[in-house]
Amino acid sequence: MKDVDLVLDLFIPDENRAMEIFRQIRWAGRIHCPKCNSLSIQNRGFQGKTKRYSCNECGLNFSALTDTIFANKKLPMGEMLYILINLDKKSVKRLSEELGHKWESVYRLARDFRENLVRKSKDPSISGEIELMKCIILQEIKV
Ligand SMILES: [Zn+2]
Repeated sequence: MKDVDLVLDLFIPDENRAMEIFRQIRWAGRIHCPKCNSLSIQNRGFQGKTKRYSCNECGLNFSALTDTIFANKKLPMGEMLYILINLDKKSVKRLSEELGHKWESVYRLARDFRENLVRKSKDPSISGEIELMKCIILQEIKV
């Protein structure tokens, strides 16, 4: 078995499961509008592969990724969570080999994560949330 297959098999949840984990972490069962914080939300169902919601207060149409560091990224959620968790432990070269992606793709994502983490860590509540997110992800996807 190649390294790539082994890592994907052992550590990367399938995409539906990865998104489910992410939604749990982000909202803890209480979906709220990222713009106005209203809890009055309408489930819009899946649009393509993305589960979408709309806010009854301000009308915003959003997904679990809206306003997060994971928005507008091309890699699957499971792989992004894996990269995020291993950001400080493994090199970009190692991660790109493990996941079978080009070095540049992983480098760009890791750089975006780092920049966002640094920027947001100036806000203690947000950096706390990110740390909490890492802990929960580790618990959820541990084999
Ligand atoms: Zn709203």
